[in-house]
Amino acid sequence: MSTQQILEAIQAGATGDDMAAVALPETFRGAHVLRSEQNMWEGVASEDKDPTKSLHIGEIPLPELAPDEVYIANMASSINFNTVWTSIFEPLSTFGFLDRLGKESVWGKRHQQDFHVVGSDSAGVVLRVGSAVRNWKPGDHVTVHCNHLDDQDPSAHDDSMLAANQRIWGFETNYGGLADLSIVKANQLMPKPSHLTWEEAAVNALCASTSYRMLVGRHAAQMKQGDNVFVWGATGGIGAYAIQLVLNGGGTPVGVVSSESRVKLLQAMGCDAVIDRRAEGYQFWSDEHTQDESEWRRLGKKVRGLIGDDPDIVFEHPGRSTFGASVFIAKRGGTVVTCAATSGYMMEFDNRHLWMKLKRIVSSHFANYQEAWQMNRLISNGVIQPVMSEVFPLEQVGEAALKVHRNQGEGKIGVLCLAPEAGQGITDPEKRARIGEDKITLYQRHARGEL
Ligand code: NDP
Repeated sequence: MSTQQILEAIQAGATGDDMAAVALPETFRGAHVLRSEQNMWEGVASEDKDPTKSLHIGEIPLPELAPDEVYIANMASSINFNTVWTSIFEPLSTFGFLDRLGKESVWGKRHQQDFHVVGSDSAGVVLRVGSAVRNWKPGDHVTVHCNHLDDQDPSAHDDSMLAANQRIWGFETNYGGLADLSIVKANQLMPKPSHLTWEEAAVNALCASTSYRMLVGRHAAQMKQGDNVFVWGATGGIGAYAIQLVLNGGGTPVGVVSSESRVKLLQAMGCDAVIDRRAEGYQFWSDEHTQDESEWRRLGKKVRGLIGDDPDIVFEHPGRSTFGASVFIAKRGGTVVTCAATSGYMMEFDNRHLWMKLKRIVSSHFANYQEAWQMNRLISNGVIQPVMSEVFPLEQVGEAALKVHRNQGEGKIGVLCLAPEAGQGITDPEKRARIGEDKITLYQRHARGEL
């Protein structure tokens, strides 16, 4: 039995019993790293580690389905930075995560393998549901959020991101989305926005939900109408959704990017206050151990020049290289919200600028189901647009990850898994026309040089 028959059933619109009757293969194609190679980058500088060498495409045995899970056919997935982290084995090998999950339960044991199938996003079709699944059926078109948790644990029942066993699917678990098939928990599923292609629908959940929790949800910065929000990496994965959320929520974004072409893209999104950090040449660190406060001041002055005020919220993720500046430029009483540390996680800032001005640093990590669902609704309603710039076939997942690693892509990069070509999967073309092709495809048009 092959995945070709699954694809044919999907293309024929099979649902319910018809879809459930389609036989599943014993193995499927998946992008994975190998335990035997987890030390392959020893002594190599981060920037020289090449995901094309560590990410492999190969046949993966189909695992058994737990009662609270579904098998999905991934029509498309996306590259997230966590796929880069896994493929360069930084800051640690993800096999440690799989080993810990393997010790938790019989079902957890399935994840403890010598391969790790990566990928934390998907748009696809439900093929089978486990015996405990109530709200979904074979044939449903879905997107998948990556918050993987055991909901029988009481710690999962206030904010599920606080659950003791919370994990990111396809990063801290096996059988992720960069594959033809996956196993996911039923409580990771959300309805696929009907006006989007498979790949446009696949790129959103991880980055968009992260930005939603950081800015909008009640657990982090809680942006209000009128807030000024400073966004690093404003055309990157999480930054591009942050800019849209600020504009949609009645705030004023200040977006930072590193090229003229990205400045143009940001302006086309409706962000008027834009900083090209490369053109400005900020040097926040004068050497490896010393930060230069005058450069922080220069950035702060630039922001005031653009919007006449300091940022109420700083959307922080570059980490070590920018964190001191982020704390400095936040408004008195303002918030620095952080979810990452791309340039290094040992951060330094001048605490006087924090406590004397009553600022706060708030941490955030992905999103709970409710937050992911709310964000998916904004995308379904056409209020927030996918920021997919390009699409790669699964065979070139390494090249796609390398592009993200080298900061060469805008927004999100989609990956076609079972979908044979880009552009398929739209089931409500009228809605698409109402929202506007130009709006939905802004990042794609920019990548084609059409802006
Ligand atoms: P992208 O690579 O798509 O975008 C990040 C952008 O940040 C870059 O495009 C770049 O923009 C900017 N940037 C990178 N390095 C620096 C630097 N040293 N100084 C200033 N700006 C910099 O990545 P994502 O947006 O997808 O992810 C960003 C980070 O957030 C990653 O570390 C990722 O792992 C993390 N993350 C965490 C999540 C969580 O749940 N905790 C969820 C999603 C992402 P430019 O060069 O144009 O300025």
